[in-house]
Amino acid sequence: MISKGKSKILLAGAVIPAAGKGSRFGEKKQFKLLKGAPLLNHVLMPFLQSDLIYEIVVVVPEEQVQQIERQVRSTPETKNIRVVPGGERRQDSVSNGVKVLSNQCKMVCIHDAVRPFVTKDMINDTIKGCGKYDGAIIATQAQDTIKRVQNLRIKETINRSEIWQAQTPQSFQREKLKEALESADRDGVTGSDEAFLLERIGYYVSVVEGTSDNIKITTPEDWFVAEAIWEERYG
Ligand code: C5P
Repeated sequence: MISKGKSKILLAGAVIPAAGKGSRFGEKKQFKLLKGAPLLNHVLMPFLQSDLIYEIVVVVPEEQVQQIERQVRSTPETKNIRVVPGGERRQDSVSNGVKVLSNQCKMVCIHDAVRPFVTKDMINDTIKGCGKYDGAIIATQAQDTIKRVQNLRIKETINRSEIWQAQTPQSFQREKLKEALESADRDGVTGSDEAFLLERIGYYVSVVEGTSDNIKITTPEDWFVAEAIWEERYG
């Protein structure tokens, strides 16, 4: 599965947070069927194909651990996939996943269970970025003009060339991610992604340019977009 010649330094454990309640979507979309297969299985495929991923941890709602364990058995058995219960916030779920990764994983690659169009290249590019930086994430440059607004009054127009929209995968050196998660807990800080937790304590997180089709399914409308992207890619 992992060739001996390959540098162990870059081997990563994947953590797939899938323990969200689906409040904006109306149901737990991470387990809904997209073109006949659960969304989670679409997400797992490129992780199973990547040579830089040693093992995978899927983090799910506590009451669904056994059900998802059965579900992931339908994927090709090329890597160890563990299923563990999540926490209250996304970063609690990520933290639960990181804790059970084996010692071989010196890097961690985090990916939202609700972004089914992740590719092996995105995964590998962010992991390789950890050879040089503390972390690397997929992001795209903003296309719209961005305003800072308070009480519906525009306060500022932000220089668009400096604005990037963060996606996942996001990969980090494991020890630094652990430190960032612990530090956020101590300081009572909640981040909407893990990169923020490293940035805030001074670590160097780099950006790898991604694509706009790596969408995150948040609302019911996003599901239609996902079906259209799937048709375009595989239909
Ligand atoms: O809430 P957010 O949009 O950041 O969700 C992104 C991913 O994080 C989703 O796959 C969701 O299931 C997961 N999540 C989690 N545990 C939580 C909240 C969200 O694993 N407590």
